[in-house]
Order: sequence, then structure tokens, then C-alpha cells
Amino acid sequence: MDIHSRLWRLKLNEARLKHENYPRPHPSIQGKAQLHNMAYSVYKVIPSSHQRHCKRCAKIYAIDDEGLAAVVEECSYHPFRLGGGRAPRHRCCGRGPHGLPCKVASQHISQDVDLEKLVDFVSTRGNPGGSSSVFALDCEMVCTKAGLELAAISVVDTACNVVYETVVLPRHPIIDYLTDYSDLTAADFRGITTRLTDVHTSILGLFGQDTLLVGHGLEHDFLAMKLLHDNVVDTAVLYPHTKGNGFRNSLAYLQERHLPHVSRTISGQLKCRGDAALAMKLALLKC
Ligand SMILES: [Zn+2]
Ligand SMILES: [Zn+2]
Repeated sequence: MDIHSRLWRLKLNEARLKHENYPRPHPSIQGKAQLHNMAYSVYKVIPSSHQRHCKRCAKIYAIDDEGLAAVVEECSYHPFRLGGGRAPRHRCCGRGPHGLPCKVASQHISQDVDLEKLVDFVSTRGNPGGSSSVFALDCEMVCTKAGLELAAISVVDTACNVVYETVVLPRHPIIDYLTDYSDLTAADFRGITTRLTDVHTSILGLFGQDTLLVGHGLEHDFLAMKLLHDNVVDTAVLYPHTKGNGFRNSLAYLQERHLPHVSRTISGQLKCRGDAALAMKLALLKC
């Protein structure tokens, strides 16, 4: 049996796609997406048109017409969440649950989702690369005046060779590069002219409706990519957390546990390239 057929048995069904909060097509409006399980998401729904939750410190803050904090105040936070175990510590600074935040930023930022603005999504159609293609992908996002936007994408094949990769210039001005997570800085965007619409053209020439897309928590990537696609193998689901539903293993943990000899990131390469390759390897381990 080929890789596509073996992995096909591991793909999420429609109910699971909705449960995992994957963007799904609106029943009547072309290009609009719906999210069916925001309660499960790390993202929150906007509290109102002029308020946002801070992604870092969780405070609700008022925004101006541009999407920026109406009152500029410092944001104190831990860049990484608490670890597990009997004495949980923040991975950033080693402080416990009540330890003072270890980092201060000049303003709040938001990754809230405006459910009414899930528009301009594209859907895979036909099978440009044949009906048995399999790719893994991963994206990086940055915070802009409009929330989270796509900033980089890597797509690899089953041999983990890069078939598409680019840094993407967001539509709105960047207010935070989220370097702790994305590894991206202002230097990565110098000279970049690729936009989301260019990414759409490229990936729709690569992915068809029967393509299997592999990744770790791909619902975030699809949301940032504004992509609607039915056939997904999600390593966050394939390797469930021992605490059950609602908890997730990180890619870093799965790599340490199952692929200790594989290095996740290589200096000078986009972080999403290493993460896409890792997701592919983890999926292939299951078949
Ligand atoms: Zn900390
Ligand atoms: Zn904040």
C-alpha cells in the first residue's frame, strides 16, 4: 500500500475537523469560513469591535480604529506557559505559577478572531499533482494591526524535501514579530514582496482536493493561510496527550520522545521547515 493510502486511514473526519476547530466552509457564502469549536481554541472571539484580549497577559484592552491599543501601557507576561508535573514552572524563567512575569513588552497584542471577518478563504479543487499527493506543512505567524497573519510557510514532501517555502508580507503593518515562537525578525521581511494571494496561487497549483496535508495543529495554519481543505492528518491528534481531550503534546515534546535523533531546527533555515519535516516524520511513524 502506498503512503497516501496508509495515511488516508489516519485522516480526521468532518466531525473531528470541526471539533479541532479547523476552518470549514460557510454553507452558503463563497470564500467565507466558519469555526465550530472556539471554546476549544487557544484563540478567543473578539469581546467587541473595539476591544481585544491580550495574547500575552490575557487582559482585555480597548483598541483604536487602527487596531492598536487605545491606551498605551506595558504588557508584563511569561513568553512560555507553565510546564506540567507536581511543581510546574514557566519554561521561560523557571518561576512557578505565581511568579512575577519575566518579560515586559511596550504594548498589548491580540490573536482574537472576528468570526464575521473569516473571508477571502480559498478551497482546494481538482488534483493538480495527481490524486495521491501527500505534503506536510507548517506556518509562522506575526501579530499585525489586524491580529495574527501569515508570515512564513514551508511545505515538504514525504521525503521531507522542500517543495514550497516563502516568507510572506502580511496585509497589515506588523506590530510584533513573535520572535520567541516564530524566529522571525524585521530582517526576514526585507525585500519580501510575496503576499497571501501569491501563496494561494502557489499552493492551489500544488494541493488538490484529494491531497493529504500533514501537520501539527494545522487548524492554526489553515486559519492564517485562509485555506479550506478536507483531508488532514494532524499529529496533535495522532499522538494524544495522556491527560486526554483539551490537552496537547507540543511538537518539541513529541520530537524528544519519538525522534530524539532528529534536530528540529537548523540554523539559517525557517523554523517552519523543520517543524513541517518533523510532522511528516511523526505521521510516517504511525503507518
Ligand atoms: Zn517567565
Ligand atoms: Zn498584555
